[in-house]
Amino acid sequence: MHLTKIMLASLALLCLLAACDKTPEPSVAIEPAAEELVVEEALVAEAPDNALLEQWSGPYGGVPAFDEMNLADIEPAMEVAMANSLAALDVIAQQSAAPTFENTILAMEGANTELDRVQPIYGIWSSNLSTPEFREIEQRLAPKIADYYSTMRQNNALFARIRAVYEGEEFKTLRPDQQRLTWLVYDSFASNGATLEGEAKARYAAINQQLAELQTKFANNVLADEEGYVTWLEKDQLAGLPDSVISAAAQAATDLGQPEKWAIKNTRSSMDPFLAYSNLRDLRETVWRNYYSRGNNGGEHDNNAMIAEILQLREERAQLLGYNNFAEWQIQNRMAKTPAAAMELMLAVWPAAIARVDEEVADMQAVAEEEGADITIAPWDYRYYSEKVRKAKYDLDSDVVKQYLQLDKLRDAMFFVAGEIFNFNFSPVPEGSVPVFHPDVQVWEVTDSDSGELVGLWYLDPFARAGKRSGAWATAYRSHSTYNGKKTVLSSNNSNFNKGAPGEPVLISWDDARTYFHEFGHALHALSANVEYPTLNGGVRDYTEFQSQLLERWITTDKVIDQFLVHYQTGEPIPDDLVAKINKAATFNKGFSTTEYLASALMDMKYHTADPDGVDPQAFERDTLTALGLPAEVVMRHRSTQFTHIFSGESYAAGYYGYLWADVLAADAAEAFVEAPGGFYDEEVAQKLVDYLFAVRNAMDPADAYRAFRGRDAQIDALLRDRGFANPL
Ligand SMILES: [Zn+2]
Repeated sequence: MHLTKIMLASLALLCLLAACDKTPEPSVAIEPAAEELVVEEALVAEAPDNALLEQWSGPYGGVPAFDEMNLADIEPAMEVAMANSLAALDVIAQQSAAPTFENTILAMEGANTELDRVQPIYGIWSSNLSTPEFREIEQRLAPKIADYYSTMRQNNALFARIRAVYEGEEFKTLRPDQQRLTWLVYDSFASNGATLEGEAKARYAAINQQLAELQTKFANNVLADEEGYVTWLEKDQLAGLPDSVISAAAQAATDLGQPEKWAIKNTRSSMDPFLAYSNLRDLRETVWRNYYSRGNNGGEHDNNAMIAEILQLREERAQLLGYNNFAEWQIQNRMAKTPAAAMELMLAVWPAAIARVDEEVADMQAVAEEEGADITIAPWDYRYYSEKVRKAKYDLDSDVVKQYLQLDKLRDAMFFVAGEIFNFNFSPVPEGSVPVFHPDVQVWEVTDSDSGELVGLWYLDPFARAGKRSGAWATAYRSHSTYNGKKTVLSSNNSNFNKGAPGEPVLISWDDARTYFHEFGHALHALSANVEYPTLNGGVRDYTEFQSQLLERWITTDKVIDQFLVHYQTGEPIPDDLVAKINKAATFNKGFSTTEYLASALMDMKYHTADPDGVDPQAFERDTLTALGLPAEVVMRHRSTQFTHIFSGESYAAGYYGYLWADVLAADAAEAFVEAPGGFYDEEVAQKLVDYLFAVRNAMDPADAYRAFRGRDAQIDALLRDRGFANPL
């Protein structure tokens, strides 16, 4: 029982994070409820011989019996687990004893025993082992999962007990982490409408229903415009394109039934490289216009009217709950806490970002003039000329860098960092002792280096294959808790590297190496947890990426470079000048990427704080960006009618700022190490990092936890330095 919005996202496996990952979603609760409640009586449903519902047995505190699970078991297991969870919660709701922390909040921690086991398996099938058969099951289950959450939230008797504990005298006598647990549980109900009664409650439910429909339609409209606008190329229109782009375009054309042509699809992954390399400016403009017009082409797939409707409904719902607007409601339980705090951060970075754009445009204009191109840099020229600037000023041969990035050595480097900073030891589990869901998956046991005490397991599924979704992500099959016996953590990392030839090392790119460390940061965050109650493992949306972003920094420490970033043939460490080039290249084009992102993030917050009555998205977008002074050469990364992060669902609505928020924390926290006598391996700072940034999870307000680590709030200067921006502060 934790932030239900987050849980729902986890269950439905909506992964909106643009690039890389799914953060480890907290588990709900693991063990039977407090003793006086006979939860077994609540079991209303059974599914005979279903391995997914069985207790995890065997070594390491019990592990999933992947070797006994069948696809056919998934649907009944989810249904049984959800039914039993609802029944167990009802037992808690209906008891005659007066509500207490123990018989209500603590009891709820144990109400989802089976769902906690089944849900991670469902997630694995969806992300790592998907098949057409599974997708059918997923479609059937999605509405049932939504029903589960709405039924749970409509349990008035249960909420009355939660509220009584939260508002009662006992609350003041609870420990801070127990108070926070109580608040988190209360808030997960209250901010989802549980405090409402009568007509207001009915209206709230009706709004949710309407929003669900509109948001789904919004996403489908964007998809329709992605599929409906293809730019077809003839052979003489391929000038400038690298072989990889040409063959992808040929494949796309073949897939679309015109094998004699080349097709640039209206998606980011097709648009981006075309704009970076095509020598034909008119075609660049066509591709650019198609892409940035998605959802804004009139007709049945136009999203303008729907934006106004969505914003109105969201505001009405927030006001039912007593908030001025949607953004206030959304942010109150996040680290930023108020829309004003998020705005303040964005506006502090904005001037430096657009000033950098001016410099980047000047560099590009100079290149264009040198070439004799009689043009003024337009938005469809940005990627093309910035690529030329990159070659001239930041030349980095990615094939040379790769020779120092061996997959196995990088994993050893991560284990080394985990040993130095977290005092963890990783060793492979004995062959065959832990079942896996695919032969590629390897498992390590994680112990405390001094005491030898078991911390948990780390499952690694490194390679791409059919049925596995793209990108990289981290999950936890079981989270840490101690309230009912210590639970060891089962954490996992998942990537899509290509397998090398037998006996050959797998060499990866610099970006992939960083992502590998990033996801390992999520795993360490799960493994280092030291909280009593399962719900306190939960994430706070604008905070959960911070820990993993911070861990990326260790990849360029001397100890990692000297021992692990070594040439795959000679064993020589990566040369200093190559590392310097990598670092310099890391600030390349940051004006563009920060500005296009911030334009979207600022617009998101403006939309969700403004009066939505009669809003015209085209005018609103134009006026807002003009007032902000967005440079003419850049557009929003996601324009309003295609901004699916915020309009096809809610978790990033008034929340797109969160990426920057986490970046500021990561840059500032990294400087705490840079300033320390022992640098990135300073023992004192490392201990604080473990105690306050990792182990504490959500048992403390993130802002307080960060202050305990740093002795102050995070400062924006560190981010500006990190991105190579001039500091106007
Ligand atoms: Zn992440």
